[in-house]
Amino acid sequence: MHTSNFSRLHFAHLPTPLEPMQNISKALGGPNLWIKRDDCTGLSSGGNKTRKLEFIMADAVDQKADSIITQGATQSNHARQTCAIAGKLGMRCHILLESRTGFEDDAYNHNGNVMLNQLHGATISTRPAGTDMNAAMEELAQKLRDDGKHPYIIPGGGSNEIGALGYVNAAIELTTQANDRSLKIDHLVHATGSSGTQAGLVLGMAGINSGIPVYGVGVRAPKAKQEDMVYDLAQRTAVYMGLNPSVVAREQVVANSDYVGEGYGQPTKSMVEAVKMLAQYEGILLDPVYSGKGFAGLIDLIRKGHFKKGENVVFLHTGGSVSLSGYPDTFDLPGYI
Ligand SMILES: *Cc1c(COP(=O)(O)O)cnc(C)c1O
Repeated sequence: MHTSNFSRLHFAHLPTPLEPMQNISKALGGPNLWIKRDDCTGLSSGGNKTRKLEFIMADAVDQKADSIITQGATQSNHARQTCAIAGKLGMRCHILLESRTGFEDDAYNHNGNVMLNQLHGATISTRPAGTDMNAAMEELAQKLRDDGKHPYIIPGGGSNEIGALGYVNAAIELTTQANDRSLKIDHLVHATGSSGTQAGLVLGMAGINSGIPVYGVGVRAPKAKQEDMVYDLAQRTAVYMGLNPSVVAREQVVANSDYVGEGYGQPTKSMVEAVKMLAQYEGILLDPVYSGKGFAGLIDLIRKGHFKKGENVVFLHTGGSVSLSGYPDTFDLPGYI
């Protein structure tokens, strides 16, 4: 697979490390757990949107954009990483934040990603939960065009066939790292949301015939809808790359939405346990919205015997710990003693 046919900027710290997690593997008593550190991609404290943005922002530059519009939930990590790179490239960044969770507290609405968006110089406006965010972005784009600007719209999560190329590359990168150390990866697990990460991974793994199955732990949509979104984007990305969409088989797209809890961004007990476990056993920070629920799914599946002792399971850490400061009361933390 050859993603070099597409314009790309290079600002991610790659390859991201692939590290063993011996302490937590021992504590859970199941498979050998590894972590692929896409929380360490470098841009504005890192995360999975950086790989997508290398291709998306190259397209924006090719199209001579002078401003970027994107959208997400209030604590969107995608928004933060987009603001950071837009500023560096000298583009204005307009962020539309959907009040998707309904949380009204100050920390959630001003700390974490929201604060960093502003540090990066973005213009932020909010929209009520349930707003048609694509229509809202189009409306803003029209206003900017009327003012003589050249806006470029990035879909939520950077999940289109351009952004997914970043995760086609990540699949190749991870497979190469495993080969270099003679590590046989039995499963790759990660949090899946707007679907670009999983779509790119599934396509990349299929395209190089790695045989590594990808398992998405959903954070929002029910299983059937999540899998449809991923499958659809994986096929569209294949076509965009000039491949036959049948390179991805439907059964290679697997998502599990049993760990969403009450909804997107709503804390769950298992997420709290997962975030604390990784923080305390491995010194690694997950996040409440995505990677915490993804790892909670992995813990539960290990306890249920889904992943076997002796297998090598890689958790893709997609980042997001910046949003922890938007959830100060979620973790039942001790005060000073
Ligand atoms: C966006 C995001 C995800 C989900 O990735 P998608 O490509 O949107 O499915 C997972 N984890 C974190 C921390 C994210 O910000």
